[in-house]
Amino acid sequence: QAKTAGRNTLQFYSPNMHMAIQERVQMEAEMRTGLEQGHFELFFQPQVHAHQVIGCEALIRWRHPERGFIAPSLFIPLAEDSGQILALGQWVLHTACAQLAAWASNPHMAHLSIAINVSPRQFHQPNFVEQVIAAITQTGADPRALELELTEGLLLHDVEDTIEKMLQLKRHGIAFSLDDFGTGYSSLAYLKRLPLDQLKIDQGFVRDVLTDANDAAIARTVVALGTSLGLRVIAEGVETAAQRDFLQHNGCTTWQGYYFSRPLPVAEFAEWVAQFSSAHRPSSAPTTPH
Ligand code: C2E
Ligand code: MG
Ligand code: MG
Ligand code: MG
Repeated sequence: QAKTAGRNTLQFYSPNMHMAIQERVQMEAEMRTGLEQGHFELFFQPQVHAHQVIGCEALIRWRHPERGFIAPSLFIPLAEDSGQILALGQWVLHTACAQLAAWASNPHMAHLSIAINVSPRQFHQPNFVEQVIAAITQTGADPRALELELTEGLLLHDVEDTIEKMLQLKRHGIAFSLDDFGTGYSSLAYLKRLPLDQLKIDQGFVRDVLTDANDAAIARTVVALGTSLGLRVIAEGVETAAQRDFLQHNGCTTWQGYYFSRPLPVAEFAEWVAQFSSAHRPSSAPTTPH
């Protein structure tokens, strides 16, 4: 995972598995300080359906004052272990809801949803539902524009409790998406019982969808499975027009990936949306003056 963290990530922190205790303790302390000092930021990556931006995924970034950007793949697993994810998760929830509320008064942004990633440990807190409702109430966000991305790891514990929490949140209009679908542990029996709205085809299957017959078969199967369960299906990690076309031909018409845009800071994201929308509006076609 650390390998894929990107060139901009300083490798001060060694990969998680081999991280020395001292290093972990230091990183935990720095996460706490970073949160207090506002060093975390949400980036937004567009989700496109046919020719429209319908929403975005919020992805956390840590701008460390001395170490530069630290990728979530390096600190989220540690935050999960240490419990720091609870504070980080609260911050993400609050910041995303505040962003939704801010966009509500902007005609170019008001229709967009925000999806946030929820860690299993965060979700399994006894008062998780109350936390989400509080964030919505305090910020004035429209809960129908909020989507929670869960992973299959959630299903390792207490499926009944998971279903109950999802149902409570869905009554408020919040939607649920199963992230990284196909990489985890979920049996089809569980999948059938979960009150999901959407499956996300993992980027690992999208990457070689044009060259690897197995990945192509899996992608097609996930689309068919999701569709027949009445779920929306979105593909993540779409990097090329050819990948998008393959997915489209196989019934998946909602996409997220570098082909459209990398995750962007909020101001750049808003600019991107304005540009994309005007490029895809029929009325933006050149008209002859009269
Ligand atoms: P994820 O939720 O599956 O997010 C998708 C990841 O794929 C993001 O990495 C995104 O930047 C990257 N990505 C998007 N499009 C493409 C593409 O076309 N090609 C490739 N190669 N990659 C693409 P990122 O931002 O580094 O996040 C990694 C993971 O960290 C996320 O995977 C998620 O599991 C976790 N994460 C990120 N933000 C949060 C957060 O706020 N809370 C929690 N609990 N986890 C988070
Ligand atoms: Mg996600
Ligand atoms: Mg994913
Ligand atoms: Mg992932």
